[in-house]
Amino acid sequence: MRIDVLTIFPAYLAPLELSLVGKAHEAGLLDLRVHDLREWTQDRHRTVDDTPFGGGAGMVMRPDVWGRALDDVLTPGAHLLLPTPSGDVFTQATAHAWADEESHLVIACGRYEGIDARVAEHYRAAGVRVSEYSIGDYVLNGGEVAALVVVEAVARLLPGVVGNPASLVEESHGEAGLLEYPVYTKPPQWRDLDVPDVLLSGHHARIARWRRDEALRRTAARRPDLIAALAAGALDAHDRAV
Ligand code: SAM
Repeated sequence: MRIDVLTIFPAYLAPLELSLVGKAHEAGLLDLRVHDLREWTQDRHRTVDDTPFGGGAGMVMRPDVWGRALDDVLTPGAHLLLPTPSGDVFTQATAHAWADEESHLVIACGRYEGIDARVAEHYRAAGVRVSEYSIGDYVLNGGEVAALVVVEAVARLLPGVVGNPASLVEESHGEAGLLEYPVYTKPPQWRDLDVPDVLLSGHHARIARWRRDEALRRTAARRPDLIAALAAGALDAHDRAV
């Protein structure tokens, strides 16, 4: 997969050189390109913004600069992603869909009051798939953190990026629709707290049952909305009793 990120702060994306995403890039599993939007400005001051039509506070990012940049970076079939607090909320299901189905994502990071609305309109009309997405109900200063979120969530689902793909199976927000059970490691006693006995038992069926029970309890306590959203038949009689 190729992912291009356009921003006026390329240094903000430096963490993508680290950890699993950095390794995936080095190994050629992910073609990640970060661009400075100001490369597509044409004035001495490298201006990317201007005052809003209609008045009001703040500045708006100019469509002409974004247009030149996106015309250069978009490839046929690319999916243009516009982070915005007014977009559809990005979820694990979205991450899976993009990891499984897309070959080129282009993320355009807004700043100030956002990007002139004609940019999304123009590329949609031109037949480009455009998704305006939010990473949650709060307002950030720019789209860079929202780009980091998407790159990391999508990249770890690409084949070969996470060393042991089994570790992706039982995660929160996965196919089971539950939050993950609590996890423990050595030492078995720490301060006055013990690891639950069942996890030291070596009894795989009992461990699996305990984990499912804990996932159900945790989800019911923290995210009852996820329990309510489970498909009919997702819970058996034992699950319901937990
Ligand atoms: N005036 C905009 C509004 O009220 O919807 C907020 C603009 S925000 C200060 C600047 C940029 O940050 C946005 O264009 C977007 O790229 C990014 N941004 C802020 N909050 C975000 C969120 N929750 N999810 C995704 N992107 C966000």
